[in-house]
Amino acid sequence: MASPTISSSGDVVADVVVVGSGVVGGLIADQLARKGHSVVILEAGLRIDRATAVENWRNMPFPNRVGSDFQGLYPQAKGAPAPLYFPPNDYVALSGPSAGSFQQGYLRTVGGTTWHWAASCWRHLPVDFKMQSTYGVGRDWPISYGDLEPYYCRAEEALGVAGPNDPERQSPSERSRPYPMDMVPWAYGDARFAEVVNAHGYKSIPIPQGRSTRPWNGRPTCCGNNNCQPICPIGAMYNGIHTIQSAEKNGAKVLAESVAYKIDTDDQNNITMLHFYGANHQSHTAKGKIFVLACNGIETPRLLLLAANARNPRGIANSSDQVGRNMMDHSGFHCTFLANEPLWLGRGPAQSSCIVGPRDGAFRSKYSSNKMILNNISRVAPATEQALRLGLIGKELDDEIRRRAIFGVDLSISLEPLPDPKNRLTLSRTRRDPHGLACPDIYYDVGDYVRDGATAAHAQLKHIGSLFDAVEFNITKSLNANNHIMGGAIMGSSAKDSVVDGNCRAHDHANLWLPGGGAMASASVVNTTLSMAALGIKAADSIEQSLRRA
Ligand SMILES: Cc1cc2nc3c(=O)[nH]c(=O)nc-3n(C[C@H](O)[C@H](O)[C@H](O)COP(=O)(O)OP(=O)(O)OC[C@H]3O[C@@H](n4cnc5c(N)ncnc54)[C@H](O)[C@@H]3O)c2cc1C
Ligand code: SF4
Repeated sequence: MASPTISSSGDVVADVVVVGSGVVGGLIADQLARKGHSVVILEAGLRIDRATAVENWRNMPFPNRVGSDFQGLYPQAKGAPAPLYFPPNDYVALSGPSAGSFQQGYLRTVGGTTWHWAASCWRHLPVDFKMQSTYGVGRDWPISYGDLEPYYCRAEEALGVAGPNDPERQSPSERSRPYPMDMVPWAYGDARFAEVVNAHGYKSIPIPQGRSTRPWNGRPTCCGNNNCQPICPIGAMYNGIHTIQSAEKNGAKVLAESVAYKIDTDDQNNITMLHFYGANHQSHTAKGKIFVLACNGIETPRLLLLAANARNPRGIANSSDQVGRNMMDHSGFHCTFLANEPLWLGRGPAQSSCIVGPRDGAFRSKYSSNKMILNNISRVAPATEQALRLGLIGKELDDEIRRRAIFGVDLSISLEPLPDPKNRLTLSRTRRDPHGLACPDIYYDVGDYVRDGATAAHAQLKHIGSLFDAVEFNITKSLNANNHIMGGAIMGSSAKDSVVDGNCRAHDHANLWLPGGGAMASASVVNTTLSMAALGIKAADSIEQSLRRA
């Protein structure tokens, strides 16, 4: 086991310097440390513990809980702010026609954002890698589904994914291995909803999930208590912290409250050293043979732009001028109604079933695909809010809460964006974080491709509502963010119009890797963290090869 060296002044030397301790950085650090390389992880945020997060959630005011304030319960490091919405902070400033639909949530903590994700672990479809050559829109990846497939299998193993092993209930069904664990059993609501809609040609299938259906690498079995977002109290759901703990056992060193901000390069444009601020704003250096920025789809491009130097005046890895461009997320909306029979949603994990029929089709040359999740977060909080608004008290109030909670349905619909260079992250000229570093500004327009996809989904939803004689049927008007941040360090075969190659290695710097959502050249319509994790593991393999050659 090799360890990084840390001097008395806090400077560090390791074979591999990883920035960011989320799922992507963690998987790379864990693999390379296991193979005997010395690895340091610089993490901007605090180390937190599960019990404190659970307690903070319990103690949150009702409006925060009912408003799904998943950010506010996680303490922020003084020097590493993240977006907040209750009340909002101005860390990320949004502009453009769809500014409101790019309000991302992400955490800056040891373990990263998967502390409060929903753990849906989907794969892209094979065709999602060839959007341009198949549908004449978006971009093709320089790698195929077949190239990434073995890494999807390894990512499912690493995240402990439970999924359906019946090919009829998979999306996609092109798999070389079964899911590591059997699917999370459906509760009554998922089964009954699928029974009704599938009889009319829809395809509601089980969501593959990073949740244990049997003890898995120290994680207990999911007991279905429905608290996954914003924190699984017992750790049955995968969180990045599980991988970080494994990496630490294998010898990796995590430096919390360490904000990377500057990158030095040599004559060959190799990275020689990173600079980072410690908790008290003192600056330190991290030297290595290989550098990995796994800071997520917003913070990686921000860091690349912040770190512009004389040799790379537009920013690190940015000779193509694509860093920070092509920002994407699965903008979405909600459809709620009261069904004509009780569905009892809220038993089991936050999300368990999803209509995937409209994931693909010739229509994608014109408008976006969609997926419709049956949201399984308990309906009690919204039901209470609605019943209180009716002015009821006593038994009547109680009865109305029960009625609305058991008959209520909430579908969460996601749409598929195309990469558009105009959707761009830049550095603020006016706002600075506590270390004096420019905050991110993001311009965003979902475009007609997504808007037309939303219109097509509305028609499908009206039909689904009619199958349940829907009352109080409502479709939200504006598009919301879904926190799947992609595109800012986009992958391609040419250094002229992309930032990284098929291994997430920067075209401009031979010893720099930029894995994760930023690299994704198409978004598909499904949650994308499993794809990010697969890209991370593929990057780790190529780093190993590079270290062997060095
Ligand atoms: C509410 C919610 C629900 C979600 N549900 C799902 C889901 O069901 N399925 C799914 O696929 N995805 C989901 N996601 C998205 C998923 O959480 C992210 O895709 C995933 O966490 C990204 O992993 P990452 O490792 O790239 O980044 P992160 O987990 O965000 O980690 C990046 C880390 O880098 C650190 N960092 C950033 N800048 C610096 C710097 N300059 N110096 C040092 N450290 C730095 C940050 O502090 C952070 O800890 C959800 C997200 C949210 C918010
Ligand atoms: S249902 Fe409960 S035990 Fe299962 S992942 Fe969610 S919070 Fe954890």
